[in-house]
Amino acid sequence: MAKAKPVETQAETKEFQAETRQVLRLVIHSLYAHREIFLRELISNASDACEKLRFEALARPDLLGSDTLSITLIPDKAAGTLCIRDNGIGMSRAEVIDNLGTIARSGTKKFLETLSGDAAKDAQLIGQFGVGFYSAFIVADRVTVLTKRTDDEPVHWESDGEGSYEIKAGQKSERGTEVTLHLRDEDKEFLEESRLRSLVRKYSDHLGLPIILKAGDKDDTLNQAKAFWTRPKSELKDEDYQAFYHHLTHDPDDARMWAHNKVEGNIEYTSLLYLPKSAPFDLFERDGGGGIKLYVKRVFIMDKAAELLPSWLRFMRGLVDSSDLPLNVSRELLQSDRTAGKIKAALVKRTLDLLEDLAASKPVEYAEFWKTFGAVLKEGVIKDMSQKADASQSERVAKLLRFHSTQSADEAASVTLADYVGRMQADQKSIYYLTADTLAGARNSPHLEGFRAKGIEVLLLVDRIDEWVVGHLHEFDGKTLASAASVAPDLGSPIETPEKAATESAYKGTLERLGKVLTGKINSARVSTRLTDSPACLVAGEYGMSLRMGRILKQAGQSNPFATLPVLEVNPKHVLIERLRDSAEEAAFADLASVLYDQALLAEGGELEDPATFVRRVNALIVAGLPASGKILVG
Ligand code: ADP
Repeated sequence: MAKAKPVETQAETKEFQAETRQVLRLVIHSLYAHREIFLRELISNASDACEKLRFEALARPDLLGSDTLSITLIPDKAAGTLCIRDNGIGMSRAEVIDNLGTIARSGTKKFLETLSGDAAKDAQLIGQFGVGFYSAFIVADRVTVLTKRTDDEPVHWESDGEGSYEIKAGQKSERGTEVTLHLRDEDKEFLEESRLRSLVRKYSDHLGLPIILKAGDKDDTLNQAKAFWTRPKSELKDEDYQAFYHHLTHDPDDARMWAHNKVEGNIEYTSLLYLPKSAPFDLFERDGGGGIKLYVKRVFIMDKAAELLPSWLRFMRGLVDSSDLPLNVSRELLQSDRTAGKIKAALVKRTLDLLEDLAASKPVEYAEFWKTFGAVLKEGVIKDMSQKADASQSERVAKLLRFHSTQSADEAASVTLADYVGRMQADQKSIYYLTADTLAGARNSPHLEGFRAKGIEVLLLVDRIDEWVVGHLHEFDGKTLASAASVAPDLGSPIETPEKAATESAYKGTLERLGKVLTGKINSARVSTRLTDSPACLVAGEYGMSLRMGRILKQAGQSNPFATLPVLEVNPKHVLIERLRDSAEEAAFADLASVLYDQALLAEGGELEDPATFVRRVNALIVAGLPASGKILVG
């Protein structure tokens, strides 16, 4: 639609950033079934704008003056428009372009890639990615924004959501923002007073500033206008906590549980901690995760106050409102502030209380939690033990860990260290574990053969971080942790047989030859007491770094001063090893030895240095073993 515009308004038409258009289209189509949420999103933005102003006014009280910050809804039936007005911070022209013309989030591209095409699922995702403002286009075929920042000229923005927007100078004398929705015919219900009233009650009742409905010439305050967390617990229902959670986090999923505490005494503060059900997309990115918002005396100070909760609890969401911190508190100050330190310690304790409670009372839900956030919680073992934090706290974290094990066939990790200790054999000294890249790789590892034969349980650790976890968690309940892939000192005794000495002398020469042929690859070779089915395996030294850890460091391009060569253990009962012993010819011996070594490395999850030569050697062995006719006899 081409309209002539007066030159003095400097109207400019701009294209939306390509990704913004794509998101817009998606928003409109996939969110239609939940179209009422546009009101929640716009009120939430207006409320944020008021909080930002309140924060700026700390340094410049003249900004606020005697204004009462509020949000006003103005339905106009004659014009078919709904206006959401706030007297918050407003936007400059550059901010309007930045905020409403692009989606200033690095996650947008990634978000688009994660969409499944399933409308219901995608609708859930959309809310997570801060496309809040664009939800206006679900119910409106045209949206205008009139906005003014205190020291800037007013700006008028307008779009039909079809790919471009127009921006020009606006007419507005007071600071703040007015978002006007030109409602589609089928969405005129949002002009009805009763509809607006019940939506505000449902979604926005918890906001700490008045939401006013302009109906005729009377103003009607729709909400309690009291910051949610300041209200007494007895007054609040589960739905209220969930509604506030959605406002706080934009997570479309509900929270799993929460803890709301008002602390009085030496330090005064209120904390409201939520344990989410689902993980944010950036949980494993630097500075990722949701974090805790900090308020001082009800004034919003900062998002993601990392100083209030350690990073291994970064999946928690929520807020802290303290009257004992200065209003001008900065991140730097928070780090050294004693009050903040005490609040942090209390929040850690409270979070652990929540998790212990969940584990004890709802194991199925705890398993879901563990699947989503377990890898993050594990960092707690590493960080806290190295920082010599309170030992009882580290122990609490250790008790919350869940593992796969040879005794549980579950797809989910479900074994606790206490379960393991309770099942240990009478003469077993250590808690055995095996690290591997995959669960299947762990379950089928040759290292487990001897343990299985003796009925000794082994924990199977398949997260990358597990290498560090076992590096820090040296013991539990007085029992040391030991790798099933290293020397395993007390394993020898239960498995050892009377013939062992005889076997060893029978293989002495073979072991020495192996050591020579595989120089530079293994430290030495020895007769295994752990293998029952496989011909050979590689074993890390008792104090050496695990082979997998060595690989992880190598992949990360790090030099590895602790790398030690593994020991090659051979199974004297295996026919391949017997053949090896009897093979007098040097070249044949070397070929077979190399194949054994390479196989052991593969079974370990390692990578071959020279896969082509391995294949050639294996093929030569197969051919040598085939009957002359070329037929392979099966069975
Ligand atoms: P989000 O709120 O998740 O950042 P939105 O798309 O809802 O994403 O809004 C984009 C940005 O536009 C906001 O971060 C804010 O800077 C700005 N904005 C939106 N509404 C307002 C408003 N009423 N007043 C001031 N700024 C606003």
